[in-house]
Amino acid sequence: MYDVVIVGGGIAGLTAAIYTRRKKMKTLIVSMDVGGQTLLTDKMENYPGFTGGPGGKLMETAHKQAEDFGTEFVSGKVNKIEKKKKGEGFVVKTTNGDEFEGKTAILATGKQPRSLGIPGEDKFMGKGVSTCVTCDAPLFADKKVAVIGGGNSAFEGAELLNKYASKVYLIHRRQGFRADEMLVDRVKKMDKVELVLDTVLKEIKGDKMVESIVVENTKTEKKKEIEVDGVFIEIGYELKTDFLKGFLKRNHWGEIMVDKHCRTSQKGVFAAGDVTNVPYKQTIVAAGEGAKAGLSAYNYLQKKQGKKGTVIDW
Ligand code: NAP
Repeated sequence: MYDVVIVGGGIAGLTAAIYTRRKKMKTLIVSMDVGGQTLLTDKMENYPGFTGGPGGKLMETAHKQAEDFGTEFVSGKVNKIEKKKKGEGFVVKTTNGDEFEGKTAILATGKQPRSLGIPGEDKFMGKGVSTCVTCDAPLFADKKVAVIGGGNSAFEGAELLNKYASKVYLIHRRQGFRADEMLVDRVKKMDKVELVLDTVLKEIKGDKMVESIVVENTKTEKKKEIEVDGVFIEIGYELKTDFLKGFLKRNHWGEIMVDKHCRTSQKGVFAAGDVTNVPYKQTIVAAGEGAKAGLSAYNYLQKKQGKKGTVIDW
């Protein structure tokens, strides 16, 4: 029986583990991989104290830190979590039949950006292709970029890129947008932004870095090549939280609802990072939330054992 079973090995899960281990809690991380979305960032410039290195370096250090403090790791895809039938605590189950018991659990499974599945998308990820304008816009100063999508993420992305890039092509597969009308109106007036509608991206080309894209008009089926240095794929996210249905409360988007102490609607289960309803899906925010979740799990157990917690009174 672990004191805490953490699901997810991104920055939120690793930070939670660093905090729970420093409280001497027996800690297990169950995850498909270690590193999460931060691995996709080639150059991190917005994580204080870490200037400009690849996200992979930050995650490697965080992984080692969690390991050095004594966190146990197991590889697996979690598809169920439930209350123990006898006694207190939870059982975390994986698709390959493994089961792990925890007095508490922290869910930090993140979110995955949708992908287009086109040639060049994976090859140039972090080499001109990005799924995060907030993270990478400053890397494209005076460069030509394309933003794909017609929702708020794509339009907010185009608005920010208008401040840095020399040219912004906003490429969307139809004429209508999901983005808020006021935002659309603002972006339409921006001098560097050009809307390329009824158009889909077919291929991303280049040598070592992105050099151009091939797009196709959905009505005429005409293809053309556009020279760009960067491609921002901003077509929404997927949260794989359906396995939590009926177990705890999620919102309309499938995010786990948490309070300011990272508590979910299920007592003893905490959540942190991009999988939650906390805004600003950024590495630094997820790290902070992971720390909070770790401390909250500790306080919860302290209180259960009749001891005083460290931060708040339960
Ligand atoms: P979105 O609104 O789902 O928009 C995605 C856009 O990408 C759409 O324009 C869609 O086109 C396009 N798209 C999707 N798949 C595509 C594909 N395979 N090829 C080409 N285009 C594709 O996602 P978003 O822009 O990231 O915005 C998310 C929204 O949800 C925001 O408004 C955000 O505020 C909201 N949200 C809020 C919360 C919260 O408040 N807690 C949480 C999560 C999300 P079509 O329009 O043609 O389908």
